[in-house]
Amino acid sequence: MSFSKFGKIGYVSETKVADFVKHLEKGKIMATRCRKCGQLYFPPRADCPNDLSTDMTWEELSGRCRLLTYTTAHFAPTGFQKDLPYTLALARCEEGVNVYARLNKDINKNETRIGVDLKLTSLRLPDGRITYEFKKA
Ligand SMILES: [Zn+2]
Repeated sequence: MSFSKFGKIGYVSETKVADFVKHLEKGKIMATRCRKCGQLYFPPRADCPNDLSTDMTWEELSGRCRLLTYTTAHFAPTGFQKDLPYTLALARCEEGVNVYARLNKDINKNETRIGVDLKLTSLRLPDGRITYEFKKA
């Protein structure tokens, strides 16, 4: 493989995954699925690590998830201290992918239980950036 081909693949991969943000801004949580082996990825990947295929297709997630595990952070890395305390959660989406994101602060401690239904949604941050989080289902 030549370096020119390597560079081209890198460029294509980057632009493919950049669409994730455009979808997120429209409120769509998108994953990618490998057309070769059928594996679903979230966050989306431009290339499949199973078979190195670049034949990926976008697929919207319903957002319906179930809480697998969580942890509340009382200490944070630089830049995140003002958010403390916050809860990081791992949830299984109905499509079968596990998603790692913050829990919205509207979910109180008593409601935070393994197995509870959550809704994965896009979130506009005060500085205009966009991300995703879990809300009450
Ligand atoms: Zn694959």
